[in-house]
Amino acid sequence: MHKASHIINVSLPDFLQHYRRTGSPAMRNLYQSFALLTALSSVASSSAVCNVGSNDPVAFSEISLDYLVIGGGTAGLAVASRLAEDTEVQVGVIEAGTFHRDDPLIDVPVNVGLTEGNPLYDWDYTTIAQPGANGQSFAVPRGKMLGGSSGMNFLAWERASQPEYDAWGSLVQDNTWSFQGLLPYFRKAATVFPNQTNPFPGLPPNGSTAAFNPEDEGFSGPIQIAYSDLYMDPVFPFVQSLNNIGIPTLADAEAGNTTGVENSRQSVNRAQGVRSYAATTYYCRSVNQTNFHVIMNATAFRIGFQNSSDETQLLTAKSVEFTLGNDTYTANASKAVILSAGAYNTPKLLELSGIGNATRLESLGIPSLIDLPQVGENLQDHLFAPVQYQVKSGITTFDQFRINSTFAAEQAAIYNSTRAGFMAASDSAISFLPFQATTNNVDSLLQLFNQTVADSNASPLQLAQYDIQGGWIRDGTVPQMELILFSRGFVNLGPNTSYINILGGGLHLTSHGSVHINTTDALVQPVISPNWLSNDFDVAAVLEGLKFALRTGSTLPLADLIDIQTDPEPDAQSDAALIEYIRGSVETAHHPVGTAPMATRVVDASLLVYGTSNLRIVDASIMPLTVAAHLQESVYAIAEKAADIIKVQS
Ligand SMILES: Cc1cc2nc3c(=O)[nH]c(=O)nc-3n(C[C@H](O)[C@H](O)[C@H](O)COP(=O)(O)OP(=O)(O)OC[C@H]3O[C@@H](n4cnc5c(N)ncnc54)[C@H](O)[C@@H]3O)c2cc1C
Repeated sequence: MHKASHIINVSLPDFLQHYRRTGSPAMRNLYQSFALLTALSSVASSSAVCNVGSNDPVAFSEISLDYLVIGGGTAGLAVASRLAEDTEVQVGVIEAGTFHRDDPLIDVPVNVGLTEGNPLYDWDYTTIAQPGANGQSFAVPRGKMLGGSSGMNFLAWERASQPEYDAWGSLVQDNTWSFQGLLPYFRKAATVFPNQTNPFPGLPPNGSTAAFNPEDEGFSGPIQIAYSDLYMDPVFPFVQSLNNIGIPTLADAEAGNTTGVENSRQSVNRAQGVRSYAATTYYCRSVNQTNFHVIMNATAFRIGFQNSSDETQLLTAKSVEFTLGNDTYTANASKAVILSAGAYNTPKLLELSGIGNATRLESLGIPSLIDLPQVGENLQDHLFAPVQYQVKSGITTFDQFRINSTFAAEQAAIYNSTRAGFMAASDSAISFLPFQATTNNVDSLLQLFNQTVADSNASPLQLAQYDIQGGWIRDGTVPQMELILFSRGFVNLGPNTSYINILGGGLHLTSHGSVHINTTDALVQPVISPNWLSNDFDVAAVLEGLKFALRTGSTLPLADLIDIQTDPEPDAQSDAALIEYIRGSVETAHHPVGTAPMATRVVDASLLVYGTSNLRIVDASIMPLTVAAHLQESVYAIAEKAADIIKVQS
């Protein structure tokens, strides 16, 4: 059992100072509850017990590996674990972080958010200054641990709509990348916790049964998913207000239509009351196998290639150099190297290894091995602006953990004895909406979209994306906006006061950013330049989300719970005032994708890097177009599919 004092080996003041420097305003204020939550977290979680190997880099380097995976994160552990099912092959994984086993900051659901900005868990990267957001630069957390970002995400488990995955298929001209093609892999990754009811308003009495449609769901996969057991006071009124505006509650949000409000399931092992993520599932199912090898605290910095000896001219990835402590080592692989370092570090490692824009690399003194100018381009994300309300006295929210020590102690006791209660809960009310659901003025949004596209210097991939996105705006089949309810305060929190935040945001934005190295020093973060709010359409899409969040908050019955609107200030009514607010308060949903996409010359539909015979990319970077959903379910499905491709093709 870890005690909090063992887990947080930086002092709280240092931690807070660091976080104030880098953290987003929303998350920064969660840290006001940090001391209380870590005190509570002396309740140990009971995550699956599994062994950790010896972590000897010399021994690891000497293994004759068939497959070598860089990055033991969400996708990396999933693909490695599946490849290791063939006991005839040796599978190795190089992971920069460690296994935070039985760590309450990871495992206990109520603690979501508390590892952000902490370098023990987070790569702690920041964007460059964003002109569209008043010149601010932003913390962009990424899990640096066994399990990667699946160990620090907010637990929402979601599948996007059918047309979005089908668009991948059309962009890569391979219809196995489609909703139907991915369905077996969504199912393969997950196990639905049985016999739960979905109590959300707006469902028929048997709505919960429909939500477990056996054709959509997984029943034997590693990741455990479940509904929350408990809901804070504002949740059902939020859903009812949306229903009153005409937004239906979805009985089955996994079936390919996501328009509505849903009770998002969570990657939580409900029986144990702990996060279910790649480390405690995919890693633990394989770790006792003699053909599965993971080296932790080991940072890969270059992939080594061998020239082809035949007319194909393809390079063959043979080795990976990594550091552990002050020393460097080389691990070798005979069949394939699989790059799963995530949307920021995957392009970084490609570039450090000589794959990327040749001019850029040569200007840094890196010999260009394969000229692939699209490496690190095409970065997409989801953007939100929050509406914060102070709620009336007597309304229970997660702020109780911050302001009410009796409540917190009671919940800790419940969690300790039953693994249930509000410490095992987290917010789950999420609504995905096309513009048609919120405005009669879709035409003017479409005009803005068309103008933005016309003004852009779009690449062929972006033009193909815009073509698809424009169709979705017109026909309303794919959500463009999202509302997320957080039953807690984010900013400027009063001592005895409770809050809610409704985040309203845009999902299919037009801006594309980039991630590139600007030094050969592998320890320096890449330059992350997302170009947020850099055009009128993106601003209008976030504005539409924000206005709909405000409308929801002023609709009964939710309106009845609210005392004061604290943010934006209530007199910010005009579009101009709200846009000014958005530029100051915008937040990412931490969903970067697309930096090594299929559908352009980075990887092909079998995730093979162009110009190589055996370097594959398996993580969120390969998405050719983002989806209107939180990403982890899609990333696990990509990894499951990749494992099947690699087993056949290697
Ligand atoms: C704060 C936060 C909240 C989120 N909330 C949600 C949510 O509620 N629901 C949802 O569905 N999605 C959510 N997401 C997004 C989702 O978790 C990610 O999209 C997904 O986990 C990404 O998986 P990946 O495999 O691409 O990358 P990761 O899981 O980040 O894996 C990359 C791995 O590679 C390792 N690595 C990187 N570079 C190196 C190197 N040089 N050497 C060795 N190892 C290296 C990293 O340490 C990491 O383990 C959230 C993400 C964050 C950060």
